[in-house]
Amino acid sequence: SRRPVLAGNWKMNGNLQLAQELVAKFSSELDSDAVEVVLCPPAVFLANVKQLLEQNAAALAGTRIGVGGQNASALDGGAHTGEIAASMLASVGCDYVILGHSERRAMYGDTTVSVAEKFAKAIANGLIPILCVGESESERQQGNTFDVIAADLEKVVETNGKRAFDNAIIAYEPLWAIGTGNSATPEQAQEVHAFIRAHLAKISDSDANAVRILYGGSVTPDNAVELFAQADVDGGLIGGASLDADKFINLCQMA
Ligand code: 13P
Repeated sequence: SRRPVLAGNWKMNGNLQLAQELVAKFSSELDSDAVEVVLCPPAVFLANVKQLLEQNAAALAGTRIGVGGQNASALDGGAHTGEIAASMLASVGCDYVILGHSERRAMYGDTTVSVAEKFAKAIANGLIPILCVGESESERQQGNTFDVIAADLEKVVETNGKRAFDNAIIAYEPLWAIGTGNSATPEQAQEVHAFIRAHLAKISDSDANAVRILYGGSVTPDNAVELFAQADVDGGLIGGASLDADKFINLCQMA
């Protein structure tokens, strides 16, 4: 069975105080290794969050909490002002990196091709990619949901080989559900998650049954239990609710 993952994507929000609050709460309230927790603060805080987790290692014994970047470059280094290499994320203790978030695709030029290249750099540097896929509202209306998602999965396999998903996580984030309060229904999520798993089995040699597929888009403690209960939903990628320490811990306990 798959260990659920609960990842908090802070986006361009949060501060050191939130990190301290979260780690304090995890130390006193989380006592399970049944869920893999991933904190994805803005990159400038990654080293601090990692350090806080290490300072509280005794109180956090028996839990699994890692840190992840929100993006990484497709390049190794050089004259690329503002960019961060996957090797740099690894060097400050990241275990994971979110790749291809829809906000980066919409506003910062990420494409199916560049995301597959970023995936390669993440793997080469020992990071676990959290690959975001998902359709827009109009793509769904036109019946293209599966095609849009399949194209991303296929490009990752084409670029990274048939075993690309041996050590990767997928996050299904329908664009229309992100930050809208309008989560996918559990049935809508399950339908797409099942498609993703079946498609992985078809196009890759990775064990599709072992790949964790997270749902993201307006997940809150009010709708999470039903979403996480779906057969192919293996946890969540949480935006807004990950900025509220009580809600986020609550979600970790539900996953
Ligand atoms: P919200 O949970 O705020 O809808 O954001 C989801 C998301 O984009 C996580 O990456």
